[in-house]
Amino acid sequence: MKINPAKKMKVIKKNQKMGMYENVMQQFNRAADLMELNPSVRKILAIPNTEIVVNFPVKRDDGTVEIFKGYRVQHNNALGPYKGGLRYHETVDIDAARALATWMTWKTSLAGLPYGGGKGGVQINPKLYTNSELERITRRFTYALGDNIGPEHDIPAPDVNTTPQMMAWIADTYMSTKSTSERSKHAHVVTGKPVGAGGLEGRDRATGFGVVIALKEWASHKNTTLKGKKYILQGIGNVGYWASIFMQENGAILVGVQDASGSIYNAEGINPDNLFTYMTDNRGFIKDFAHAEALPNEFFFGLECDIVIPAALGNQINEDNAYEIKAEVIAEGANGPVDGAANDILLERNIDIIPDIFCNSGGVIASYFEWLQNRNGEMWTMEEVLEKLESKMKISFKKLLKASVKYNTDWRTAAFIEAISRVEQAYLQRGIFP
Ligand code: GLU
Repeated sequence: MKINPAKKMKVIKKNQKMGMYENVMQQFNRAADLMELNPSVRKILAIPNTEIVVNFPVKRDDGTVEIFKGYRVQHNNALGPYKGGLRYHETVDIDAARALATWMTWKTSLAGLPYGGGKGGVQINPKLYTNSELERITRRFTYALGDNIGPEHDIPAPDVNTTPQMMAWIADTYMSTKSTSERSKHAHVVTGKPVGAGGLEGRDRATGFGVVIALKEWASHKNTTLKGKKYILQGIGNVGYWASIFMQENGAILVGVQDASGSIYNAEGINPDNLFTYMTDNRGFIKDFAHAEALPNEFFFGLECDIVIPAALGNQINEDNAYEIKAEVIAEGANGPVDGAANDILLERNIDIIPDIFCNSGGVIASYFEWLQNRNGEMWTMEEVLEKLESKMKISFKKLLKASVKYNTDWRTAAFIEAISRVEQAYLQRGIFP
């Protein structure tokens, strides 16, 4: 692809980039103003309930000891236990954990689940540790959190760089701290476990599947379909991988991919199966994939396409690239991928944004199914799971559309209003102790 550097972008005077917590609070405040949220409830929801920071030691394979920093922020539990993932990434800090926990409160509320919101993780690059070190890190982190998590209190799940295997270690460690006769009652302390260890059929693909359901709902709202639509994908972890599988099933064409190793493009389409096979032999990276052109990262979001799926980290779409986007819709597979400034630029440019708290809610909805399955001693089939997930997401989309008409506002603000209203109602009906 030829890129004319003169076209690269308008040079924008950049302010200090927005932090993730600042972003979620701006989203919250916009909705709270418009819906005229009860002022007392607003005060409560403007700050997380609990913030836990733990420093814990782990023995490396060479016998030396390293201290790790772990976080768990519990934003709100008015509707039920705190719920949300744990991520292993260098960007995990208190600002990120707060922001992500807050988004979880709105995500679970919008989905109509009996949960609040929490999030956490460990500030590490997991690629620098061996599997046995990651097992000790995960177990020791779980032990450090102690009874700050629990099956009816706060239920972690996978997020960026955390896997079903790690969830199994969390369950096993947590259960091992309980008395023998109590142990089996605690398997639902964590969701996203491997199927053999109490996990749910389909939980692995649930977030990516949900992103594609969200896009299908968007398409039918626009009287079109995904067939033949070209899309670019940022991030090819669990969410990106499964989203591309279901996009392919729906006839959409992958034309660009970006991961930590670089960006690639092929206007004729990149076959996801070929790409995954290549990645398996290339330490999980897309770099140097033969059937696409490499391109500088800064041109990625400006590629010709109909749909953008950011499925990596927060604040990836910002003032630097929001003017360059050619797509008609952005489906937020990641949490907080569009920062506040970019959000307004995109709305101004009439680009639809399917907001994260709806778009990527398939994961936590399936987590709820897993939790119910464990709690009730049931076994659900993949078909049941995907069918129930699809119908829940369709309900959320209808609610979001309805609120956007009622309040004459964008989809993100509408989604927030729906989510906040449910929590507001709980507080107003229950009152504030004492
Ligand atoms: N980490 C996912 C999210 O951000 C899933 C959370 C869960 O299943 O609890 O929604």
